[in-house]
Amino acid sequence: MEQTLNERFGHNCFRPLQEDIIRNLLDGRDVLALLPTGGGKSLCYQFPAAVLPGITLVISPLISLMKDQVDSLKASGLRAVLINSTLTERQLRLALEAIEEQPPDLLYIAPERLKSDEFIARLNRLTISCIAVDEAHCIAQWGHDFRPSYRKIGRLLESLGQRPPLAAFTATATPIVRQEIIERLGLQDPACHQADFNRPNLRLDVIRDTDRQKWLLHFFSSGQETRPAVIYCTTRKEAQSVRDLLLNAGHPCGMYHGGLRPADRQQVQEDFLDDRIPLLVATNAFGMGIDKPDIRTVIHYNMPRDLESYYQEAGRAGRDGKPSRCILLYGPADPVTHRQLIHQVTYNRQKHITLEKLETMIAYCHTDRCLRTVLLEYFGQAPAVPCGDCSNCLDDTPREDITRQAQMILSTVHYTKGRFGAATVAAVLKGSRSASVRQKGLDRLSTHGLLKSEDPMMIRRYINILVSEGYLARTSGRFPLLQLTARSSVLLRGETRLTTRHHLKGGKP
Ligand code: ADP
Ligand code: ZN
Repeated sequence: MEQTLNERFGHNCFRPLQEDIIRNLLDGRDVLALLPTGGGKSLCYQFPAAVLPGITLVISPLISLMKDQVDSLKASGLRAVLINSTLTERQLRLALEAIEEQPPDLLYIAPERLKSDEFIARLNRLTISCIAVDEAHCIAQWGHDFRPSYRKIGRLLESLGQRPPLAAFTATATPIVRQEIIERLGLQDPACHQADFNRPNLRLDVIRDTDRQKWLLHFFSSGQETRPAVIYCTTRKEAQSVRDLLLNAGHPCGMYHGGLRPADRQQVQEDFLDDRIPLLVATNAFGMGIDKPDIRTVIHYNMPRDLESYYQEAGRAGRDGKPSRCILLYGPADPVTHRQLIHQVTYNRQKHITLEKLETMIAYCHTDRCLRTVLLEYFGQAPAVPCGDCSNCLDDTPREDITRQAQMILSTVHYTKGRFGAATVAAVLKGSRSASVRQKGLDRLSTHGLLKSEDPMMIRRYINILVSEGYLARTSGRFPLLQLTARSSVLLRGETRLTTRHHLKGGKP
């Protein structure tokens, strides 16, 4: 195998997991592979394509990004054909006829193509010796990028005369998504390979409720080693204002979002990749297929909507393995923005999943535990010890017992039977006599005003901590209500205590 690797692909040795995955496929076994972006996934299906007799079918939503890959395959003596979703019927027919006449080693298709029965029938006339499903989490409703057309892969497999070995690849999959991939693709006794998701050179920070503008300017005045940097914003509008802020303060920077003309997007991307601009303010439209190894900082100016997106975006820092920073600036308005966006656009079926993932993201922003541990646990990997290197591990503010405050919050939720959201619960405890509090009779509750002396932001933070620690849950509506959970009673009865670091402002740059 090493000889083939060297002769056909010009590599001296396999990367971790590559050889095992390839062996499995050559043995005819299904594979589920969790490899980080840049981990060398392509070789895992290109290698079998080079040695197996028939066609290796690659299904990928990123097919538009694969032209380079196809061109570079020529050096390996491999013939590859791309069928994306933009071909006309006529172009498609011609392409398929050419394929039947002279079958390539690799056939890349966009999943949307599988909607056509005729297309599937034609695939059936070919000898397919291996199928690779790229970005396999797209088949899972619990994935962060669900694409209905991925469901058709199952139909394709059923209709194929033969059942070649199937390899599913993804860079981010939680245990629940893994299970969904296995079930929906019908992987048979798959060999599961998971790369280490930990990126020790990335330092993780969460900074809560700070003046983000001031913080950002201070951060970028603090030294050149912060650059190149990407600053992610949730909305185009916010990206615009952050770009203006940085430019006005004399920091050269570009902006990238989906609303720009393609030519402008291309230009700013190249300027950033070639180090003509050191800072790039972007929405999540930026990054797919981008390979810039020396990004030193990824700042999330807003909280993203789930941990998969977060780690994918933050993980664009430090591909070269050198120390790099991933900083998340959390603002209390972030969850509100996301709930609005989710309720505007998401299909109904997906909504509760998307909202639940948002809750997990919010919890990450409020936890006191090691951030790396929390993140890796989410991806099904449990490190034994705290990293000692994240903003939580490095936070030496003394811990304070907040059991009493927590009990008051839980009692208020209990007395009001979970009918109110965080804002109302906080208002009651603060002792508000607003019209809405009085109308609902909440000023007569026994907990009314019990946290009168607390900063209202602090009460909100306690609530967030309770949710993040599982003592409270939020319903999934547009205006979420607080609910007690199975864990609430142990805290209410004082059988456990809750502590936190008692500061509002989360750290210095
Ligand atoms: P991804 O997993 O993101 O699809 P790629 O397959 O594009 O990653 O691989 C990323 C880079 O690593 C490519 O430039 C590829 O040539 C290189 N690469 C892959 N396997 C090896 C190997 N065994 N030895 C050296 N370089 C490799
Ligand atoms: Zn840590």
